[in-house]
Parts: sequence; structure tokens; C-alpha cells
Amino acid sequence: MVYVPSTSESDPEKLKTKLKTRRLVRNMYTDETLTCVDCGRQFTFTTGEQEFFASKGFTNKPSRCTDCRAARKSGRSGSGGGGGGEGYGRQREMFTATCSQCGGVAEVPFQPRGDKPVYCRDCFAQRPSYR
Ligand SMILES: [Zn+2]
Ligand SMILES: [Zn+2]
Repeated sequence: MVYVPSTSESDPEKLKTKLKTRRLVRNMYTDETLTCVDCGRQFTFTTGEQEFFASKGFTNKPSRCTDCRAARKSGRSGSGGGGGGEGYGRQREMFTATCSQCGGVAEVPFQPRGDKPVYCRDCFAQRPSYR
């Protein structure tokens, strides 16, 4: 596990009040600031969430903020750049085909059939309209 010390949270007063408000919670958990792999923003992995994760048996920290997690859960997040998620949720199966326009690699979410042209993302976006 890699532990990254947060350099931004060096205000002692801030930390003190934080500790005070979290006094009632079992002190094996503390709020953590994590960076979302999807949107790159920092978010707080709260003690409540940590307890929730622990109760579910998860040992990994969330790699996404609550917004992005909610977006993923609702099914439609078109991104998915370079394979980063290991076994977290299900991944949409993608098929690789040859782009009919530029001859490059086209990744499509459906099984390509020989009688239909397949376009890569770029060529598809360049098309004025699709029929
Ligand atoms: Zn995010
Ligand atoms: Zn193309």
C-alpha cells in the first residue's frame, strides 16, 4: 500500500478541530483525502465510508469521488481511457475492428459484422450524421 503524505493539510488548527469533531467515532478511522482517477479532483474518504467499506469487506480505497461513482453506478460513463479498474464493477465488453474509413483500430461496443462499416471513434465523430 502506498501512503502519500498530504502536504496541503499542514494547518494544525484545522487538524485539531477535525479531530475534535471526529472524537465520537472510533479512532481507528480518520478522514482521508483521495484523488479521483476519473475527474482528478480531490475528495474526502470519510470515516463513515471507511466503516462502510470495511463492513463490506473491501480492502481497497475508492479510486473515484462520490460523483463519479454515482455516475458509474447509473450506467453511463462514456470514458474509460486506459485500463485502470481491476475487478471494480463490471466492464463493458468491447470488440476490436478495423475502421472502414481510416483503417485504424476501432473499438465498438457491439460485435462487428462484415456487412456493416465500422468506424473508429474519431471517424465516427467526424461524420456529419449517421443513418
Ligand atoms: Zn470524480
Ligand atoms: Zn477511423
